[in-house]
Amino acid sequence: MNYRHAYHAGNFADVLKHMVLVALIDALEQKASPFCYIDTHAGRGRYDLRGPEARKTAESDEGFGVLKTATGLPPLLWKWLETVRACNEGDEAMRHYPGSPWIAAHLMRESDTAQLCELRAEEAGALRQLFHRDPRVHVHQRDGYEAMKALVPPKEKRGLVLIDPPFEAQEAEFRLIEKSLKAALEKWPGGVYAIWYPIKLRSHVQPFHRWLTKCGAKRVLVAELLLRPDDSPLRLNGTGVAIVNAPWKLDEALRDSLRLLPRLLGTPGESEYRLTWLVEDTPDETPTNA
Ligand code: SAM
Repeated sequence: MNYRHAYHAGNFADVLKHMVLVALIDALEQKASPFCYIDTHAGRGRYDLRGPEARKTAESDEGFGVLKTATGLPPLLWKWLETVRACNEGDEAMRHYPGSPWIAAHLMRESDTAQLCELRAEEAGALRQLFHRDPRVHVHQRDGYEAMKALVPPKEKRGLVLIDPPFEAQEAEFRLIEKSLKAALEKWPGGVYAIWYPIKLRSHVQPFHRWLTKCGAKRVLVAELLLRPDDSPLRLNGTGVAIVNAPWKLDEALRDSLRLLPRLLGTPGESEYRLTWLVEDTPDETPTNA
């Protein structure tokens, strides 16, 4: 288990994932009743973009770094940016980038709760420290896949599970996700599950998409951002989030912001986005070049 998110925080994949997270929390907050947020692979919750790990890769320079001074962003991207700003408490240089737990906790209401799972002791310790004064947030140092099965359905009976594993072994991680999601859906068929995945070779992703179409959920939406053609196993060409039991009109909430990302972060003629219902009688949107 070598993966550390500090090397990747704020990269283009985080931008897509966290923008989708903001949209999902917005959708859950359309109803007054409380919800539970479950993060199976939570990380440390907040990252120093001037730290040695972040500087070594400089990945955030091509993600959050491009967008932090952007103006005229569509409402969803703007809300994501405001959330990052809030994580920096008035530091104009915005040295820190929030992880998914911080974003969720910032947007949650008093009555909502969060269950955060992180296996690595150092990261789980940092996460505990970050939220030690927030009674809504519970940190578990344990395997996120096992925890998901134990934690669903939450007592609120509504909510979101974010599955964001390290993908150290591409195809094996997809199979682990399928196995644990199957078990979770059996216990909680009505939960919203958002699964982040990297795109290197398209052929690695296709079996997962096929599995999703047969997982029994009535609505599965996929949002992808491809910076380069998905034809090389050696580099991160793109990224996607699959949303099982996607809230009504989530595609509309995502479209304007997602459409802009290839143009802002990618290369004209090479970068594109995809917003596709894998399960739903909604017409597919064809890839659009930047
Ligand atoms: N969700 C975080 C965010 O958006 O800010 C980033 C999470 S990072 C991609 C994956 C995290 O999973 C790492 O912090 C890693 O230590 C942790 N991890 C690896 N295997 C795990 C497992 N089996 N259960 C829980 N956490 C795990």
